[in-house]
Amino acid sequence: MTSRIYNQSMYKFGTPESSLWEASQGARIPHSIKLIGDHSADVAIIGGGYTGLSAAYHLAKDFNVKSSVIEAGHIGWGASGRNGGFCSVGGTAEDNQTLIKKYGLDDVKKYYQSQIDAIELVRSIILDEKIDIKIQGNAEIEVARSSRDFDRLVSYANFRKKSLGLNTSIIPEDRFKEEYFDSTEQYGAISIEPTFGIHPLRFVNGLADAASNRGVNLYSNSEVVSWEKTNNGHLLSTNKGSITAKYVIFATNGFMPEHLLPNFNARSLPIISSIITTRPLKVDELNSHNWKTEDPIINSRKLVNYFRMLPDNRFLFGGRGSSSGNEQGALKNYCYLESVMKKIWPNWRNVDIEYKWHGFVCFTKRLTPSIGRLDDDPSVFFGFGYHGNGVNTSTWTGYQLAKWIGKINVRSEYPEELPNLVRGLSPKFPFSLFRRYYLQAMINFYRFKDNFDFFSK
Ligand SMILES: Cc1cc2nc3c(=O)[nH]c(=O)nc-3n(C[C@H](O)[C@H](O)[C@H](O)COP(=O)(O)OP(=O)(O)OC[C@H]3O[C@@H](n4cnc5c(N)ncnc54)[C@H](O)[C@@H]3O)c2cc1C
Repeated sequence: MTSRIYNQSMYKFGTPESSLWEASQGARIPHSIKLIGDHSADVAIIGGGYTGLSAAYHLAKDFNVKSSVIEAGHIGWGASGRNGGFCSVGGTAEDNQTLIKKYGLDDVKKYYQSQIDAIELVRSIILDEKIDIKIQGNAEIEVARSSRDFDRLVSYANFRKKSLGLNTSIIPEDRFKEEYFDSTEQYGAISIEPTFGIHPLRFVNGLADAASNRGVNLYSNSEVVSWEKTNNGHLLSTNKGSITAKYVIFATNGFMPEHLLPNFNARSLPIISSIITTRPLKVDELNSHNWKTEDPIINSRKLVNYFRMLPDNRFLFGGRGSSSGNEQGALKNYCYLESVMKKIWPNWRNVDIEYKWHGFVCFTKRLTPSIGRLDDDPSVFFGFGYHGNGVNTSTWTGYQLAKWIGKINVRSEYPEELPNLVRGLSPKFPFSLFRRYYLQAMINFYRFKDNFDFFSK
């Protein structure tokens, strides 16, 4: 029996999420089968999202190691097939000053350089593998919803530029209105390069095709239900088959089946993020808010919204999801998200919302990604906890794990490339069964702050 902290409807592996991405992924050549019978592999990877697929792809491409990826749903069923498609700098929810205090400036700079490398890694995979994706925009924009927020963002951008070497710039309100968009909540913005937007499920599919073409076995609709250590290595079993492997990569992020191995119990906090998309907007509708940009954008609300204009002029708007994951809560949350969107862009108040969906992002207690191998079993590798910024971070994590395993005979310690702030398991969450309730209390407080701050700006 599994002990999940959210409603069971979040774990319907057999049902694809009804997202715009599922509806617009294009024709597919099947690249995966159900795991039936007993198999073996050098490396078995649990989870067929970016982390798992990138690890499998790089193991095959760079080290000629053929792995097997085991995915409970279709390949990319999890967050990798559902996200907002922002390929941007992030991955941690901790503020920079605290990170510097804890890990030192050099390590934090190294981390941010790895974030830039990770963005370029995604770009190069798309180009090298000729994945059919439009790369949109050059920078992530953070738009201020009050003049007080603008002042805060300006000093944040200056700090990131001077101390961390990031390529940030400041966009005053008038220029923003002319070159980006106009709305009820824009008082100028900051930008950070590089960043771009993609169709996330097409990236999954492209990565999976590239891995499969290099000999990776992809097993879909095959939930791992037990994990045992035997004399022959790890035995991962599904309802219809099994894989025995020397090494395992645990790549399940927010959908983590914690019950499979006690080491992972209470190490992460999944949080639901939701997205709505409009029908394609007409030119006069775009003009009514002077919409000019393809750059992915976030706002300065405490419960941040993320949004982008897609290649067919559908508007994608995302934010915090429901707290339980049940269907009623999800519907209520989509309505809330729509009301926020239409408050910010009132001229779009009659525009229909065509798609609504949600999924898990994954937090850790120390608020940084968790990448490594188990101390008590060095044949188990893991990568999770990207704090809602996994397009680049998880792809990069998979690559780091592949390099680590690919060079295992010459290198058993942590690879030099991994900043200290991402190494190893994060401490456990206390009172783990109540994780999502104390999260809810925090969200209610932030929702209150968002409304209060807006009226007092
Ligand atoms: C709504 C939403 C919006 C987001 N927006 C962005 C964004 O714009 N930019 C960004 O960078 N990040 C974003 N993220 C986060 C990003 O999508 C994730 O960080 C990233 O996809 C994580 O990849 P992953 O491969 O580690 O995990 P996932 O893609 O979640 O893959 C894990 C897989 O493990 C599988 N699994 C679980 N249990 C088992 C089992 N027992 N057996 C076999 N398989 C199992 C699941 O089915 C799942 O497919 C968003 C996430 C969501 C949900």
